[in-house]
Amino acid sequence: MLLLYNTLTRSIEKFEPWEPELVRIYFCGPTVYDYSHLGHARAYVAIDIIKRYLKFKGYDVIHVQNITDIDDKIIKRSQEEGRDWKEIADYYTKDYLEMIQKLNIHIDLHPRVTEHIRDIIEFIEKLIEKGHAYIAPSGSVYFDVTTYKDYGRLSGRLSAEEWRQEVEFLQEKRHPFDFALWKAAKPGEPYWKAPWGYGRPGWHIECSVMSSKYLGSRIDIHGGGQDLIFPHHENERAQSEAYFDKSPWVKYWLHVGLLTFEKEKMSKSLGNIVILKEALKRWRPEAIRLWVFSAHYRSQLEFSEKSIEQANALYLRLVRTLETLRSLLKEVEPTTSLSGKDIAILNEISDINQKFREAMDHDFNTPEALSQVYRLTTLVFRDIEPRPSHATVLRAYITLKNFNEVLGVLDKHFEKAREFEEDIIEKLIDIVIKVRHELRLKKEYSLADWIRAQLLELGIRLMDSKEGTKWIIEK
Ligand SMILES: [Zn+2]
Repeated sequence: MLLLYNTLTRSIEKFEPWEPELVRIYFCGPTVYDYSHLGHARAYVAIDIIKRYLKFKGYDVIHVQNITDIDDKIIKRSQEEGRDWKEIADYYTKDYLEMIQKLNIHIDLHPRVTEHIRDIIEFIEKLIEKGHAYIAPSGSVYFDVTTYKDYGRLSGRLSAEEWRQEVEFLQEKRHPFDFALWKAAKPGEPYWKAPWGYGRPGWHIECSVMSSKYLGSRIDIHGGGQDLIFPHHENERAQSEAYFDKSPWVKYWLHVGLLTFEKEKMSKSLGNIVILKEALKRWRPEAIRLWVFSAHYRSQLEFSEKSIEQANALYLRLVRTLETLRSLLKEVEPTTSLSGKDIAILNEISDINQKFREAMDHDFNTPEALSQVYRLTTLVFRDIEPRPSHATVLRAYITLKNFNEVLGVLDKHFEKAREFEEDIIEKLIDIVIKVRHELRLKKEYSLADWIRAQLLELGIRLMDSKEGTKWIIEK
C-alpha cells in the first residue's frame, strides 16, 4: 500500500488513483525568462523519482508539465533588454528542455501557454457565463472568489496582509482576493483578441486549462514547488472546481520542498541561484539526481558542494557495483546447490528489497530507500565478490537493475550492454554477407541463395545492387 502526503488535508493518505491502473500527474513547470537553476532541478527530479516509483509499482503514468511562455516576468525582461518577448521565451524554453533531457527526466507533454490561448479564452468564457468571473472596466477579467466557498483551504492563507497587490488592480476588483484570469493589453505588450477585448491570460488559468485539456477533468497528482501553493495552486483549484462543478478536482496535492542556500530559498530575486547549466559543468547529472534523492521531497534541501560530491561518490560506487556484478556473472557457473552463506545473502537481498519498497511506499522516503541501495553495494563488495555464486550474483544484479528503474542513474550502463550486443550482431551479419558474396563469385548460387533465405527467415532482408549488398531488419 502506497501512502502519500496531501497538502490539502495536511495528512498522509492511502494512494488510490481515480482509475485503478492509471495515474495522471500535472506538475507546474517553468516560466521561461531565465536559465533553469538548481532549485528547478530539485523539483523536477523529485517528481520524476515519484513518477518512476509509480511506474515501478506497475501504474501507467501520464505526466504533463507546462511551460509558461507569456508572463509579466518575460515581458519585463524583454523591455529591459530590448529583445522580442518571443525570442526570450524560445531561448529559455530550449535551455529548460535541454536540462530536462540531461537530467534523464521523461515528460509526456510540455504544453506551452501561447499555443493554448484559444482554449484559455473558452475556459474563461464559461467561467463568466457561470457567474464565477466578471469583466472589469479595464477589460481585464477576474475570478470572483465569493462564488467559490472553499477558497483559501489549500494554502490556509486568508489574511489580506499576506497579499501583495497593486493599487490599480485593487481599485477595479470586487473583492481583494479576486485574481486576474485575463489581463487587458497595455501599450507595447503582447496581446491576443478575446470576445471582451485585447489582452493576455493571467498566470493561474493556463494550468487549469492545459491540465484538463490533456488529462481530463480529474487529476490524481497535481504538484509543484511549495512556493506555488499560494496563490498559484489556491487559484487553480478555485477556478477548476468552479468550472467543473466538481470537488475534489485534484485527488492529491503534492509539493516539493525548496532548495536553500545558507538557509535562504534559492531564487533569482535573492540573487543566490546556481544555474543548472553551470552546475552541470562541475557535476554529472547522475550526481545531481542522487543528491536530490538523498533528501525527502517535502523537506528543504540545503545546497552544498560537499553534499553533491557525496552523491557523486555514491554514483561511482553504484557503477563499480554494477561492473563487478556484470563481470562475476560471466565467470560463475549456474548454481545447483547453495551454501548456508549463500542462503543468508539471498535473504539479506530480500530484506533490502522489502525495506526499499517500504520506504518508498511511505510517502516516498528516498533517504531511507537510498540507505538500502547503499546496503546492497556493501553486501556485494563484502560478501558476494569474495565468494560469488550464480544465484547471489544474479539476484544482486536484478535488484540493482530494479532500483535503477527508480533512481534513473545507471541507464546508460545497462544500455551499454545492449549496444555491445547489437554491435556484435551487425558485425556477424556483415561476415555472412561477405561469405555469400564469395560464393556468388564462385558461381555457387544455390548455397548463396540458401544463405539469403535463411537470413530472411530471421527477418534480415538482403538487398543487392551494383554498389554491394545492404541489409535491413524487417521484424
Ligand atoms: Zn501551474
